[in-house]
Amino acid sequence: MTGRFAPSPTGRMHLGNVFAALVSWLSARKDGGKWILRIEDLDPQRSRIDYARQIEDDLEWLGLDWDEGGVDGKGPNAPYCQSLRGDIYKEALKKLQATGLTYPCYCTRADIMATQAPHESDGRVVYAGTCRPSRLGGEFDENPAGKPERAVRLMVTDRDISFTDRLYGDQTVNLAEHCGDFVLRRADGAWAYQLAVVVDDALMGVTEVVRGSDLLLSSAQQIYLYELLGYPVPQFAHVPLLCNKAGQRLSKRDSSLSMEELRKEYTPSHLIGQLAYIAGILPEPFPISAHGLLPLFSWSALRPLTSISIDAD
Ligand code: GLU
Ligand code: ZN
Repeated sequence: MTGRFAPSPTGRMHLGNVFAALVSWLSARKDGGKWILRIEDLDPQRSRIDYARQIEDDLEWLGLDWDEGGVDGKGPNAPYCQSLRGDIYKEALKKLQATGLTYPCYCTRADIMATQAPHESDGRVVYAGTCRPSRLGGEFDENPAGKPERAVRLMVTDRDISFTDRLYGDQTVNLAEHCGDFVLRRADGAWAYQLAVVVDDALMGVTEVVRGSDLLLSSAQQIYLYELLGYPVPQFAHVPLLCNKAGQRLSKRDSSLSMEELRKEYTPSHLIGQLAYIAGILPEPFPISAHGLLPLFSWSALRPLTSISIDAD
């Protein structure tokens, strides 16, 4: 059993990020498994190393320890910062190109968000297929001398992909309807989240992916990539999103429930107790350490709610 937490270092963690980290850590540790910290710094414009170090400091404060990974992470799967793993993604891209299912996309800006995990509230659109070639296996020159100047997209087929989420149960997604052909590498050379997350989870031996429920349907895109690359598919387990009173997913822009504020108001065990109560693991909030929570944790305590509303300004 190997779990992981894969934060994007684009700001201070908020309560929702911590919630996903806690459940992922509990699930891995409960089984005596390993926990990996991977830094999803794919987007050079938005990622900052000091945010990544702050995430490490916040996880340490919470008592969520990792066996492998982190900014300076040493370990069998180093490096653990995605910005340093380009050669690995390039190999995977070559394999995908060999299937004949990739093609260059010249649409401007269409792929700008590809480096980020596609949260549902971002309002994604289905790619219209503007640059899709009329036949499979078209020519693809890699342009080895210079920077690639256009995005690479992967064709999806019109078929249902089914999987069983540990919390949300059976899911069926048709990729043609859900997202259409999707980006693997941006025109500026930045690697897409969907490709990087699959390659890294597979190569790092991750067997359970725990993250926020807004990425539930992204799992289908990822399963498609696992199949094309010939990797075993991990267990997916999504957790409810924490929302403010207005029903909006917490974001790094709302500062009231950021770790900066939370660390002023709570001790680690008070915060863990609150989260465990919100999750349904504790009948009432009382201070408890992450380790203390291990014997009480089980997936059956969690409910597959769409979101959990908490007090936030
Ligand atoms: N980096 C993503 C996020 O912060 C998480 C992606 C994942 O866990 O697969 O939302
Ligand atoms: Zn296009």
